[in-house]
Amino acid sequence: MASEGLFEVPEWGCQEGTSTNTCTIDGFLATLLCAKWKDPFFLGRLLGDDLFTTVCRQFAGGKGKLSERKKAFIEALYPTADDGEYDLWGDEQSMIHERAKRQSEIVVTATCVDCYQELIETRDAFIVRPFEGESLVDAIHATIAAPVRDFCDKELGYCTEKKEVTLRVNETTWMIPIDLSQCPAHIVNPVHIAKLPPLITVGGVVFQLGGVTVYINYKDRADRKKSGGHYSCVMWHEMKWLYYDGMAAPKLQTIRKLSDINRLKENVVFTCKCAYYFRASD
Ligand SMILES: [Zn+2]
Repeated sequence: MASEGLFEVPEWGCQEGTSTNTCTIDGFLATLLCAKWKDPFFLGRLLGDDLFTTVCRQFAGGKGKLSERKKAFIEALYPTADDGEYDLWGDEQSMIHERAKRQSEIVVTATCVDCYQELIETRDAFIVRPFEGESLVDAIHATIAAPVRDFCDKELGYCTEKKEVTLRVNETTWMIPIDLSQCPAHIVNPVHIAKLPPLITVGGVVFQLGGVTVYINYKDRADRKKSGGHYSCVMWHEMKWLYYDGMAAPKLQTIRKLSDINRLKENVVFTCKCAYYFRASD
């Protein structure tokens, strides 16, 4: 059911009981639905006939019931266990990012300013590890445009480390997943979502922040009754924040400010896991 006149979001698991622990993909799926709800041209930017793009397009834009479309998404991408159940226990990186490499490709060309040697690399993983004192925004930009590994023969004593870096995205690059899971917890508290860049420009193409998944680690709970954790998600829309949790009721709700997330559940610590940027221009 759609909440508060917003858009329909997925339930945790699968209604038919064939899938479990789906919160590792639910935040990404909700973010896709939000992007399509906000932008009538969104699906048209999911170019490519590879499996991941095809199932994303069918999930976000298909006509059937949302639960059926989620089931189809899971069946297409994940292996079943011996009992026939799809158990998506794990982390979001392996469930989504590892399967979305072609959709996330950035071509990095580095030219040595001294000898003009050129090295071209394709990058498809964006793991942010800020150094002390570096802002999250700077760390994200540095992760995307990081210089390619050293490739000149410095032993000749001629080349400095200076490299001119240019970036290009393929036509089929429609998503940049920024992995925030290795950032120190104090800089990826959900209140810092507002500090993420709303837009990222790569090779002249604009990518817009779609949503940010957040994670509760139950080990941090004061009562420690549970183990493991749970993913939920925050999305931005017209001066409001939308908070999605496939296990909660309501599953989607408007929150006035990000600090309200911490009040939704008691005694838990949220950290941001991944920021999804979607292509917004051609
Ligand atoms: Zn050189």
